[in-house]
Amino acid sequence: MNKTKIIATIGPASSDKAVIEELMLNGMDVARLNLSHADYPFCMDIISKVNELNKKLDLNVAIMLDTEGPEIRTGEFVNGEAYLLAGEQIKIYREEVIGDKNGFSISIPKVIDNVKHNTTIKLDDGKIELKVIEKRTDYLLCEVVNSGVITNYKSVNIDCPKKDIPFLSKKDREDIKFANMMNVDFLALSFVSSSDDILEINDLLIALDNDHIEIIAKIENEQAIEEIDEIIRVSDGVMIARGDLGVELPLERIPGVQKMIINKCHLAGKISIVATEMLSSMETTMRPTRAEVSDIANAVIDGVDSVMLSGETTIGAHPLLALQTMEKIIKSAEEDIDYVELLYKAMRTEKQDTTGLIAHSVVDCANRLRAKTIVAPTMSGYTAKKLSRFRPSCPILAMAPTAEVAKSLALNFGVKAITIGELNSFDKILKTSKKKAMEYLNLEEKDKIIVTGGYPLKEVKHTNFMKIEEI
Ligand code: PGA
Ligand code: MN
Repeated sequence: MNKTKIIATIGPASSDKAVIEELMLNGMDVARLNLSHADYPFCMDIISKVNELNKKLDLNVAIMLDTEGPEIRTGEFVNGEAYLLAGEQIKIYREEVIGDKNGFSISIPKVIDNVKHNTTIKLDDGKIELKVIEKRTDYLLCEVVNSGVITNYKSVNIDCPKKDIPFLSKKDREDIKFANMMNVDFLALSFVSSSDDILEINDLLIALDNDHIEIIAKIENEQAIEEIDEIIRVSDGVMIARGDLGVELPLERIPGVQKMIINKCHLAGKISIVATEMLSSMETTMRPTRAEVSDIANAVIDGVDSVMLSGETTIGAHPLLALQTMEKIIKSAEEDIDYVELLYKAMRTEKQDTTGLIAHSVVDCANRLRAKTIVAPTMSGYTAKKLSRFRPSCPILAMAPTAEVAKSLALNFGVKAITIGELNSFDKILKTSKKKAMEYLNLEEKDKIIVTGGYPLKEVKHTNFMKIEEI
């Protein structure tokens, strides 16, 4: 059982129920839907398929919904695409038009106000570059710097101030209501630039009476990096969104920023996710490059919680093979994690929190005894999260009271969450823990497991016991 989690973005290449079923059976922990590309009917269809399959397969695959955020994208093109030739002129209109090789529109035209002569505009994650040569009332006149094909709704990165662009658009507000209505598990916020952005969403969710959705801040520009400590403090987790980050920042800065963020999240006990181009060559080929294998393995060895597939599973030719490849790379890389070092590092920042302190002892004990699993009955998921933070070398089997709680653990390193009925005696907790450990893991006689939790279950708010059992 792999401990590093996998998020797979769902798109046209993976929307069939049979494909989703295969992804779920092969290690997808979270299905991601990106509202920059997917519309409501598509999302509703995928969510209902995942829900049905969770029941059929006895799984707790969670749903992540990404907001569009103050993210600038191209509008539509005639026949969905246009070929831009280096040296030619092209207009970016304030008005909505159907684009072609002579001009197109963008999703946030207000940004045109802030653009200056000679500004660089990067399209489709930087694949095509334009230079502004003139600003007119109705449009920006640009020159194409390098040729390429541009299609509908591709990213547009403009190097100019964006302070006056509000974080939440009308569409985002609608999207958050939609996320609440669909009861998704994770809301990933695109282009966050400060902790205030996250607090604003928190308020919105409180107003909607939603205390379930976990908030993931997508780090995709310089401003977010400057405010990273505050952003980590107020979020449930952070995504290193290398797609846009690699356009907003010089590419060579990404590895350092990635390591810095993974480390900060680990120390703060928050979820970290590495995203984009992890296996992008597999959008067309059947084998990854050596560089991609190294990239995934290094993220795992650095102690990330989750890694993500985007184009590989949305439009790629081999969504299932990409997922299986990722699983194989993770499995091997997890052998090289320095679990003792990660445990030691996390301990240095643990507060005087009973659950945290017991979790630390449990993980230390499990590592030294080479226990096969830590079983944790958990009402809110808190015990399992704390255990995950200390990165045990064995899996954590979290026994949650509801599917909602089980799914909220889908991104946490090492946690396999299942749902379980009422556990009304200590004896029942131990018996069920053993039974479930044997059911979900390949255990042999004399194998050790550790059971930890709070008892009586509904009365204590923190972990208060640890029991070492032998099979
Ligand atoms: P996106 O986010 O796929 O929604 O753009 C991830 C990234 O930018 O890397
Ligand atoms: Mn992005």
